Amino acid sequence: MTRKTGRHFFANPGPTNIPDSVLRAMDRSSLDFLDPEFIEVFDAAVAGLKRVLGTSGEVFLYTASGHGAWEATLVNLLSPGDTVLILESGWFSEGWAAMAEKFGLRVQTVAADWRRGVDPEAVTAALRADAGHAVKAVLAVHNETATGLAMPLPEIRAAIDKAAHPALLLVDTISSLGSLEFHMADWGIDAVVGGSQKGLMLPAGVSFTAASPKAMQAHAAARLPRHYFDWTTMLGRPSRSFVGTIPTAMFYGLRESLRLIEAEGLAQVVARHHRLAEATRRAVRVWSGNDGPQLYCLDPARMSDSITAVLMPEGFNADTVRRTALDRFNVSTGGGLGRLGGTLFRIGHMGDLNEPMMLGTLGAVEMSLRINGVPHGKGGVDAAMDWLAAA
Ligand SMILES: *Cc1c(COP(=O)(O)O)cnc(C)c1O
Repeated sequence: MTRKTGRHFFANPGPTNIPDSVLRAMDRSSLDFLDPEFIEVFDAAVAGLKRVLGTSGEVFLYTASGHGAWEATLVNLLSPGDTVLILESGWFSEGWAAMAEKFGLRVQTVAADWRRGVDPEAVTAALRADAGHAVKAVLAVHNETATGLAMPLPEIRAAIDKAAHPALLLVDTISSLGSLEFHMADWGIDAVVGGSQKGLMLPAGVSFTAASPKAMQAHAAARLPRHYFDWTTMLGRPSRSFVGTIPTAMFYGLRESLRLIEAEGLAQVVARHHRLAEATRRAVRVWSGNDGPQLYCLDPARMSDSITAVLMPEGFNADTVRRTALDRFNVSTGGGLGRLGGTLFRIGHMGDLNEPMMLGTLGAVEMSLRINGVPHGKGGVDAAMDWLAAA
């Protein structure tokens, strides 16, 4: 293989690019996690995280990727035999549901077409049908990273309230926090699952759950077995988080990534994600000419501003195009997950990105379509430039 030159363009929808200043901040040797120097860094990082989440409640942190936070959230809030209502969105909603089932929870699904997502009316109907309140929690993935669909959480909250149902609302924000608009308390969310390696621009390794006062009440009664992830144990620790050693370097990085987000301004971060996402969508809409690749998400109001999934025309493999982009142009994109494998590729536009990085990725993808003889409309990158120059 020939040596790859220049920058590796990383357009996966997680993990994401790590800003240089975050890398520099993390370049630390070990120190005692009870050292006052570290406690100051830790407290600043957690305070910043709470501002980004929009909560003043508890945040429990774990040395684990997002899957650990999924598990921690279930075992700390539920009891054997409880029912959870999962809102189907795609690969990640299926994954969280499968985990719940393994823990002995009953899983009920609000089914949905993956290209459109759930109808809030169906959520209300499912909860109205549950007169005995067997459903203890509604599980929603804010941003379905496998398909590029963002769920309108205020509509989901309203749908639960319309049924006057007491279930907790648990939300996975792993690929939306720090990229899409989100307000935990204002949107009435009881538990929020997040991870370090997507919008928060860190390596994988720390994930967390933010818990509302209502969630803390549920925790007091929850009986699923837990040990490493037990919030009660964590509350007795000076950090009010972690069972075991704290990964200190991650907090130097988190403090810096949150500083970057807040220096740009949360609203500006959200606006930038929208601008770059829209550039991507405009490129794909041009490519979709000549029966070319098209946007996987079909609902314009739900198209994700952190990842775009691009569905290949029949008979063309997405991974061949991804391989060309990587081998020829040093551009990495995400593949289709699970049953979507080979049928689509995913362009991540989440985290530390700017316009030329986006255009570089779109240019590499457009060239890769051409090289592989995939039918498409020409000029996707031009459409993206038109939008970015005017936006
Ligand atoms: C990435 C992701 C996960 C899984 O997180 P890991 O850190 O890979 O364990 C879960 N949910 C969503 C929505 C994700 O994007």
